[in-house]
Amino acid sequence: MSNATWFDRARAVIPGGVNSPVRAFGSVGGTPRFFTSATGPYVTDVEGRDYVDLVCSWGPAILGHAHPEVIDAVQQAAARGLGFGASTPGETELAELVIARLAPQIERLRLVSTGTEATMTAIRLARGATGRDLLVKFAGHYHGHSDGLLAEAGSGLATLAIPGSAGVPAAIAAQTVVLPYNSLEAVLQLFAERGHEIAAIIVEAAPANMGVVTPSDGFNAALVEIAHAHGALVISDEVLTGFRASATGWAGIDPVPYAADITTFGKVIGGGLPLAAIGGSAAIMELLAPLGPVYQAGTLSGNPVAVAAGLATLRAADDAVYDRLTTVADSLASAVSAAFSAEGVAHTVQRAGTLFSFAFSSSAPTNYEQVKQQDAHRYPPFFHAMLDAGVSLPPSVFEAWFVSAAHDDGAITRVLEALPAAAKAAASA
Ligand code: PMP
Repeated sequence: MSNATWFDRARAVIPGGVNSPVRAFGSVGGTPRFFTSATGPYVTDVEGRDYVDLVCSWGPAILGHAHPEVIDAVQQAAARGLGFGASTPGETELAELVIARLAPQIERLRLVSTGTEATMTAIRLARGATGRDLLVKFAGHYHGHSDGLLAEAGSGLATLAIPGSAGVPAAIAAQTVVLPYNSLEAVLQLFAERGHEIAAIIVEAAPANMGVVTPSDGFNAALVEIAHAHGALVISDEVLTGFRASATGWAGIDPVPYAADITTFGKVIGGGLPLAAIGGSAAIMELLAPLGPVYQAGTLSGNPVAVAAGLATLRAADDAVYDRLTTVADSLASAVSAAFSAEGVAHTVQRAGTLFSFAFSSSAPTNYEQVKQQDAHRYPPFFHAMLDAGVSLPPSVFEAWFVSAAHDDGAITRVLEALPAAAKAAASA
């Protein structure tokens, strides 16, 4: 059966035919591909075509798809039982591994199943710790789909150009203040006016849900300083950047070191299965139940199969893996840029560690307003020309590109060969 037939069939039983909006190809048009398998740098669709995958499951697949060590760990864990609703050694091993890598910032780790849950819990924790309600977020940053976080969010909301979501009570929306990113003036002004009400600033460590936009040097450190001066906390959302932007996430490579109070993880930490986490100092994290008054729980939290995938992924993700990610990101970013330049397409390369994306504008956007001003109409024809040539890109210009250590020379060559025609399509859009 073809992709189109599957899409029709899916639309009859699943809203929009998808279980997460960006998958519907809404902003690029055409028929989403229905995948049946993936291995290394390739994904294969129901028609038997394979594509070089530059989505990588939206981040987790740093080792490439179906990495033998990860699959083996998952199979072994599954054979021992899919879940017990009780503690397992693997949860402790995963927490130890993360803490060893990210100490001293992370002293305790709580596992949940999705990034959305991680940020929800982080916010409740910050509110519980400070006794305050107000949350500050930045326009274009995406922190999952919980009520308080959809105002001017990135990712699917940017793709669909919607400012928020129906169904969010006004009283909850009023607890979030949205500021322009990279503007310390805006942060300082808000804190001067309402600092005593603010529980936390939540911030993508390096935003990658409006395309990649790097924080200006010292921005994260300044947020911590300002928040702390007013008794508020900083939640650094590394769901996307953690263990991907670098071995130590964005925090490990930000040119000005900073120590957020609470950090959220997802994607890579679960190796492709549903797993995410909240980490921070013992003093803050031990406010969580059962030790403290901030409640949080989950039937599937720390699921042993997901933990096995996360452990195997992080154990395999050594320096050689991150070196390869960097090399692949370097070569693809410069090749795409060269292809656009050859066609006279104004663009900037947006880069945060091994993450990158392109903005169709002549100067690098530093916030959501600027991101939205780019020539976004150039992306759909570029995207489809690449797809036709066997390269699967994120189906929105407002998303980062993801590479894996399995992207070998063959995969890269296919991307390079597809670029000239795709850049031409972008130029004539
Ligand atoms: N935070 C960030 C920075 C994200 O990129 C995402 C997902 N893309 C989330 C939170 C939400 O994670 P999930 O989709 O697992 O709920």
